[in-house]
Amino acid sequence: MTEQQFKPELVAPAGTLEKLIWAARYGADAVYFGAEFGSLRAYAGNFSLDDAQKGIDFLHKNGKRALITLNIYPFSDEYDKLVEIAGKLSEMGADALIVADIGLIFELKKAGIKTPIHISTQANTTSSQSVLAYQQLGAARVNLARELSFEQIKKIREDTLKSGMQLEVFVHGAVCFSYSGRCAISDYLTGRKANRGECTHPCRWGYSLVEESRPGQYFPVFEDERGQYLFNDKDLALFEYIEPLKNIGVNAFKIEGRMKSVHYIASVVSLYRQLIDGKKISSEDCLKLLSRVKNRGYSTGFMKGEITPEDYSREKSDTSSEAVFVGDIVSVGDEETEIGCICHTRNKIFAGEKLEVMTPNCEISEIAMPSPLKLIDGTEVQFANNPQKIKLEQKLPPYSILRRIV
Ligand code: SF4
Repeated sequence: MTEQQFKPELVAPAGTLEKLIWAARYGADAVYFGAEFGSLRAYAGNFSLDDAQKGIDFLHKNGKRALITLNIYPFSDEYDKLVEIAGKLSEMGADALIVADIGLIFELKKAGIKTPIHISTQANTTSSQSVLAYQQLGAARVNLARELSFEQIKKIREDTLKSGMQLEVFVHGAVCFSYSGRCAISDYLTGRKANRGECTHPCRWGYSLVEESRPGQYFPVFEDERGQYLFNDKDLALFEYIEPLKNIGVNAFKIEGRMKSVHYIASVVSLYRQLIDGKKISSEDCLKLLSRVKNRGYSTGFMKGEITPEDYSREKSDTSSEAVFVGDIVSVGDEETEIGCICHTRNKIFAGEKLEVMTPNCEISEIAMPSPLKLIDGTEVQFANNPQKIKLEQKLPPYSILRRIV
């Protein structure tokens, strides 16, 4: 598959093979993930090389692309290992390597690795000059800094259009309080470095004031009546900008969240799939759909030109959602078995309750659970726990999601 085949491309995250499959089923054109080392996810969310091969093969079989993150800022003695992994991933069929460090670009080229290079958002590219410089170094795509306004992106696109350089924009997900990843708070407070994929997210913590001679006495900090989560950005959600960004020639739209759940990935990918395909969905309905997954409130970040107090969630630091993912459809029955489909429970499901259904082709409807619930072994129950399998009369496609609206 060529670099130019999808325009624009919807790029989704995956921290596991399961999430990769869900992202693809729900309409991602490409999936990005880390493999073994060097991907800014030090503690979880990296594929083994075996799983990376399975992921690449699955994506290719389904007409989609595999983009592999190698966007750590390495120390001098780590380049050999990174180049070795990059060489293996290249041979395995990776469609692009996502890199932030300029030295690594040189090393990959020096090693003769031909897989296209995408510049990570961690490189904080904010100008046409930098985009064109990366092209000179051999990159095919730049994921622009999340700290740019729409007008600045438009200018970069105009200045670089003739070059053929691809531009990618992050359109959804958590953002950093600092310039993406250029932050030492985690390192100072916990010894875990953001640019090594170890961030403990202290920007989400609540802070108090302590006077030196009164240890243990914590004075609350109130910037205003709403509270003290001073650095807690809301999540980015650029659903209103998809059409304008398409119109100026952005080549790819990326979703953040390799650590997020399959329910999150499916729901967010599904919404942006529809928007990229040109479906008109009101902002109110987009927000309603996005309220189903965990979020800190939504913001358009720097896109509008400036950050305002409304772009922070100062009253709370945790995420919440209006829906609980309770089950997914694992197989479809037939007339002989007299089963419509089989639901695998992900959470407690009650007999007779009404649930919302989301299918991989983006249809949303309501379904009533049978009463009593019938498990696949024939037992009848008033509720089913996770993990169990329930027979349903309705024919729902595999990978449909059942969720309880709360
Ligand atoms: S502490 Fe917050 S702002 Fe800093 S790198 Fe981590 S997520 Fe980003």
